[in-house]
Amino acid sequence: MIKIAFFDTKDYDKKLFNEYNKNYGYEITYYESKLNIETVHLAKGYDAVCIFVNDRADKPVLDKLNEYGVKLIALRCAGFNNVDLGNLGNLKAVRVPAYSPYAVAEHATALLLNINRKIYKSYQRVKKYNFDIDGLLGFDVHGKTVGVIGTGKIGKVFIQIMKGFGTNVIAYDVYHDDKAAEELGFKYVSLDELCESSDIISLHCPLTPETEYIINKQTLSKMKDGVIIINSSRGKLIKTDDLIDAMFEERIGGVGLDVYENEEEYFLQDLSGSYKRDRNLSLLISMPNVTITSHQAFFTSEALHKIASDTCQNVKDIFEKGECVNEVK
Ligand code: NAD
Repeated sequence: MIKIAFFDTKDYDKKLFNEYNKNYGYEITYYESKLNIETVHLAKGYDAVCIFVNDRADKPVLDKLNEYGVKLIALRCAGFNNVDLGNLGNLKAVRVPAYSPYAVAEHATALLLNINRKIYKSYQRVKKYNFDIDGLLGFDVHGKTVGVIGTGKIGKVFIQIMKGFGTNVIAYDVYHDDKAAEELGFKYVSLDELCESSDIISLHCPLTPETEYIINKQTLSKMKDGVIIINSSRGKLIKTDDLIDAMFEERIGGVGLDVYENEEEYFLQDLSGSYKRDRNLSLLISMPNVTITSHQAFFTSEALHKIASDTCQNVKDIFEKGECVNEVK
């Protein structure tokens, strides 16, 4: 029987994986701890580890997994920036490349509308029976220019949604999908042009050495005053220090974040009873034109089902056939 150690698991993971595992019969142990060098010993005696976005499979962890004879890292997510692919050794890694681009693109849209129309403020006011609308002024998204960085699965769904709003969409990507550009009606431009022309910028590229801090002092300086920036991709796409500087200079209209560069120790858990604080995160949370959600863009019922079913199948493919279409190399 294939033994899998699950890291960073929540009740909803257990519930769905137990359901799908009825068809596979893996022996699963669920750990709440994240995978890192302190916890990697928990993987001893297992054939595979199953990890999520904030588990860390860096070289020291991978060396230990190899030493323990673990054969597979099954990522139950799309991004794989947390796995040092150059140091896999005898391990294989698989992921779930497309569980629901709609979940993430719709959440990015929710962040945009929430920031622009100040829903978070009106919600709090109305709760207190305050029906004043002063200070809640937004703008029509219709007719604005939306810049999309990364036109893959999620980026394309986001573009489709934005076209529905009647916006002019421009995009930056190292790979040009000209067919999609024609069908959806958007135009590829340089990163500089995107920064200079967009009223709204949404990030949908993966975190790689090339995209790390793609939003930095230089790119921020090119953006229009009042720009709205949405990041539902990976925290490290934005250099938070530079973003905060631009916010203090009152050049940014609003920011919607589902991810944050130091989210690992904070997101996806309840720290309301602790004094542990991250300086930049606290600063952002305190700002009136910032909305932060805790890496929940993926969190729809449809996406969770697909993650569980595809992960179970990925493990089967690797152990039975030695290969899997969702392998990352
Ligand atoms: P995808 O692979 O389908 O598309 C990524 C796109 O980014 C591709 O078109 C690729 O060419 C482009 N790209 C790569 N390098 C680039 C660069 N240097 N500059 C500009 N563009 C570049 O991926 P996807 O399914 O659309 O997912 C995008 C990202 O969304 C994932 O990598 C992940 O980090 C993030 N994500 C977040 C959540 C969440 O819950 N917040 C959930 C799923 C995915």
